[in-house]
Amino acid sequence: SKRMGSKAIIKINDRFCRQEEINRIAIVAPMAKVNIIKNFKVTEKRAVTIPETIRGFVRCANPKCITNNEPVETSFQVVRDGEQEIALRCRYCEKITHRQQIEIVK
Ligand SMILES: [Zn+2]
Repeated sequence: SKRMGSKAIIKINDRFCRQEEINRIAIVAPMAKVNIIKNFKVTEKRAVTIPETIRGFVRCANPKCITNNEPVETSFQVVRDGEQEIALRCRYCEKITHRQQIEIVK
């Protein structure tokens, strides 16, 4: 349907299909379907599920946050942001990082 316009199919090699990787995709593309490719064949289709907690790979949007100034791993609670969007609430400074602001850090 039109409302599902952001739906996408993401094909990933099976060596990247650890749940942590899938969770990363969920944050960037919450409507995505993930196809797991093994030996050039789709072996598995997974809908991404958005985890309740995100740790470590997203930067907090608040430059004053302790996680941007000290070697502290980020930790966010996933919250709704409107009807289809999600946002991340920092557990340290409580600042909301909206999905468009999400910056993946390794
Ligand atoms: Zn923060």
